[in-house]
Amino acid sequence: MDAENQEIKQDDLSMEITDQECPVCHENSLTMKEEVRDINGFGIAHFLSMSCTKCGYYKSDIEADEERKPFKETIKIENENDLDIKIIKSADATIKFQRISEIIPTDSSNGYITTVKGLLNAEKKKLEELKEGEEDDAERKKIKNKIKKIGRILWGRDSLQITIEDPTGNSVILRK
Ligand SMILES: [Zn+2]
Repeated sequence: MDAENQEIKQDDLSMEITDQECPVCHENSLTMKEEVRDINGFGIAHFLSMSCTKCGYYKSDIEADEERKPFKETIKIENENDLDIKIIKSADATIKFQRISEIIPTDSSNGYITTVKGLLNAEKKKLEELKEGEEDDAERKKIKNKIKKIGRILWGRDSLQITIEDPTGNSVILRK
């Protein structure tokens, strides 16, 4: 690695490189980070992120140290305890919330560790924004019902099947 013009801070398992060129605004204001953690049920995981202080560009992903088999699993969320199930979601993951919505991988997808609750809250926020922009009354009502359903699940008063699929295997459901 070319160390010139790079400030490299390195403790045992993490690294940070500052003043890199941002792919969006092309200023040298990008910070790249890599953190390595050993996660029970997953193994050695590399957390990679890029963030730009000038334009706010942000990208993150998670990658296993060893190549993993494609992952697909469906979980049923039935009570409040299920909301705490931890999920490693890579940028390549597709997440289907049965009869509500789905998250499809795109160029701007991020990878992160979250919980079922975290996923549902994010999806609820996404649907609320979608509802605001929707002009068709029937469509608005459909979205409203989906938001209500997520609300009930978050209160432990409704159930939901969530399917997570990742061809890279870098996603996983971490059982407690
Ligand atoms: Zn930028």
